[in-house]
Amino acid sequence: MSKNVTKIELNSPMEDLKGVGPKKAQCFAKAGILRLSDMLWDFPRDYEDLRSKTCIADLKEGEKTLVVARVIQARFGRGFGRKRTFHVLAEDATGRLDIIFFMAGFMGRTFTIGEEYRFYGKPKLEKGRAVMFQPTFAKADDDAQTGILPVYTLTRGVTQKEMRRFSRLALELAEGQFSGEKETLPASVIESANLCSLEYALRNVHYPEGREEYSQARYRLVYEELFDLKTALMLSKDRFGSGRKGIAFTGHLDEVFVEKLPYELTNAQKRCLLEIRADMASPKAMNRLIQGDVGSGKTAVAQCAMLKAVSSGYQAAFMAPTELLAAQHLETLTKDFEGLDVNVVLLTGSQKASERKKTLAAIECGEADIVVGTHAVISEKVKFKALGLVITDEQHRFGVNQRQMLTAKGENPDVLVMTATPIPRTLAVVLYGDLDVSIIDELPPGRKPIVTKRYDEETRRQAYDLMAQQVAKGRQAYIVAPLIADSESIESRSAESLFEELQETYPSIRFALLHGAMKQAEKDAVMEAFYRGETDVLVSTVVIEVGINVPNACVMLIENAERFGLAQLHQLRGRVGRGSEQSWCLIVTGEDSDIARMRAETMCESSDGFYIAEKDLEMRGPGELFGFRQHGLPQLKLADPVRHVKVVERAAKDAEALLAADPGLTAPENAGLKSKIDQTFATAGELIL
Ligand code: ADP
Ligand code: MG
Repeated sequence: MSKNVTKIELNSPMEDLKGVGPKKAQCFAKAGILRLSDMLWDFPRDYEDLRSKTCIADLKEGEKTLVVARVIQARFGRGFGRKRTFHVLAEDATGRLDIIFFMAGFMGRTFTIGEEYRFYGKPKLEKGRAVMFQPTFAKADDDAQTGILPVYTLTRGVTQKEMRRFSRLALELAEGQFSGEKETLPASVIESANLCSLEYALRNVHYPEGREEYSQARYRLVYEELFDLKTALMLSKDRFGSGRKGIAFTGHLDEVFVEKLPYELTNAQKRCLLEIRADMASPKAMNRLIQGDVGSGKTAVAQCAMLKAVSSGYQAAFMAPTELLAAQHLETLTKDFEGLDVNVVLLTGSQKASERKKTLAAIECGEADIVVGTHAVISEKVKFKALGLVITDEQHRFGVNQRQMLTAKGENPDVLVMTATPIPRTLAVVLYGDLDVSIIDELPPGRKPIVTKRYDEETRRQAYDLMAQQVAKGRQAYIVAPLIADSESIESRSAESLFEELQETYPSIRFALLHGAMKQAEKDAVMEAFYRGETDVLVSTVVIEVGINVPNACVMLIENAERFGLAQLHQLRGRVGRGSEQSWCLIVTGEDSDIARMRAETMCESSDGFYIAEKDLEMRGPGELFGFRQHGLPQLKLADPVRHVKVVERAAKDAEALLAADPGLTAPENAGLKSKIDQTFATAGELIL
């Protein structure tokens, strides 16, 4: 059918729209917009308030303002080709305004001299004269250009104008589509939480009638995101979570192990262990999250749990995010469990077929007590004789599907998830509700605190010399850069160019390069060599962020630290300070912004992950919640669980009440909600716990 005949509906694919060819449709698809209806959920990142205009004479510096003015001159300025600037002179009854566009080689015919235009931008006052750089503009008589207009995040190949045109169209077609049973929140909730309708919310979040209407719209959408999240979490917990019937473990080998340890457990470890023992002894399935800073000794606690399971006649699975980490764990466990008659095996994807076959057989017949590996351990092919406990280390994403697979495998194994990414307590309680959380908030005694120092472009050589001195003493170091290769558009050091530069400057040091674009096998080989001490300095992108343990490494040097969030900086620093010698974290910042300075100061001031998490929440931009994504929660579009903590509480309470009244959401009035949650969270598939 030709485009002119196709009837456009809310659900029409973007290609069916006039002006959208296959190429443009692909551009939209990149932004996740496949159908017209997707436009509704692509919320603006900003707005242009074109309701009131300002006279040129009244312009104030730095405030986004609308000016309506007649163009009296338009010409190219300096530069060549695409990169030329374009200068416009415009006037109203009160004065003249200079307007400058950059990269404007295409603008030659944009303006008609003598016509009136609307210009919207931040004016600057230069020598008493108003200048606007890069304003948005439209003909003054264009009716679509009034009121409060959305500003969307653009993907390459799609213009703001097109986004606005299609979001308008989508809203028109949406009229009457979300009422009655199509409304996505139950009527009881809408009423009790005093929310506006979905249709009203969508219209006013895209094209607000005014501030008040916008607030109402936004509140409803924020509330809904949090309400859905909480409901989905509780539903999945009901199906797979705590409260399900599990195994009552009776073994006590963990006590023998604790006696045998060369050190005494910290009080935090002891407390955490008591909680785990109680969980495991009870006939309910354990579903516990252990949060503990890097180096706080989570592994020892996990080892106890595994031994308790094994001595109760069950098997345990211990999963790490990479093969190398799994191999490290195998080494630790084998060594630590010497003399305890526990059989630990490693299962990885890169094993030889014959070896793998043998391992799989040992797991199936029960000869293997503990299986260490990556997520492959719980893949369908692996059959356990009696899987009783599953532990994931530094693994934040543990999807519903995986959980289902697990439950299918064992009787109903206990689950322990360990993470070094702290979520502020208040938030964890609200979001996870009845999930059990243990916190190890104490480091083993005798650790030398890591010395954190800040350097800038001028002093960065000192940082490198400190590193070189340590290497000369036989120690190892990490250098982390934000980019893999040099880039024209980003002024940052890249791992590749640093690697080359350093190799030249310090010819006696053995450098190795590691980055995310390398194949897994290559990465593992590089890490392995570093782990064995065959290389001195690992120059890398953030791929080393998770879990690696090389106690001989005592320097973590971070380049362009302003490009990393606090969470990342803290994780990176945790890679050193694992041995008995003094360790350093050297933070080199390229750009001296406030936020970079505050982050660096926070890092120098504290090594407490929870404190840093709180600080991070205070200073981060919207949407980058500390560890939120790492925890596998679906992306929230508008809601910010910290800023909106009151809404979180309210939505959580309402969700609990709704589920108490209708546990499976089977009532007809909850059908819309149920299907929406199934859709959103099934495709996300990544809910933890
Ligand atoms: P993480 O929590 O980062 O996984 P690990 O479990 O790897 O930390 O522990 C870090 C180091 O601290 C290990 O070498 C471990 O043997 C040691 N360790 C753990 N608990 C104690 C303790 N109570 N006293 C002394 N050393 C400990
Ligand atoms: Mg660990």
